[in-house]
Amino acid sequence: MRKAIYPGSFDPVTMGHMDIIKRAANIFDELIVAVLDNKVKTPLFSVEERVNILEDLTGEFSNVRVTSYSGLLVNACKEFEAPVIVRGLRAVTDFEYELQMSQTNRKLADSKIDTIFLNTDLRYAYLSSSTVKEVASFGGDISAFVPKPVADLTYAKFNSVG
Ligand code: ADP
Repeated sequence: MRKAIYPGSFDPVTMGHMDIIKRAANIFDELIVAVLDNKVKTPLFSVEERVNILEDLTGEFSNVRVTSYSGLLVNACKEFEAPVIVRGLRAVTDFEYELQMSQTNRKLADSKIDTIFLNTDLRYAYLSSSTVKEVASFGGDISAFVPKPVADLTYAKFNSVG
């Protein structure tokens, strides 16, 4: 049974994230998509909202489970019994941080955890949640960046804050 965890903020989930989820779900027997509950950052969507959105979007994949976690990722790996971490790489700029994190996590977990990187599909290489939020905040078109329900919810957030 090959089990992996795909952690992230997913604030909000983009087409790039969805592409990584689909591809990882094809590689692993079970994929746990884990939304980070980061007490330090103020997100646009609450953890519950992000979990619900991801559950709706991944409902068609029988081997994908959505959950949240806080604290150290290696502890979440232990809790969910997932020895592999999946991360997406967009550009060289992602690489340095991701390499350092993967080495730190491996050390923290006594070499029992590995990180696997999936290269972004070139269609989504430029995409990030922060860009999506910035464009949406100015009323720009985000329909090519996020699934339709996410676009609607994102505009609703910005409209409700004025
Ligand atoms: P984090 O704050 O943990 O980086 P994100 O939600 O921004 O959370 O990203 C989660 C993971 O998805 C990271 O590994 C990130 O590199 C990857 N990712 C983000 N956007 C894309 C994209 N457009 N294509 C592929 N991977 C992506």
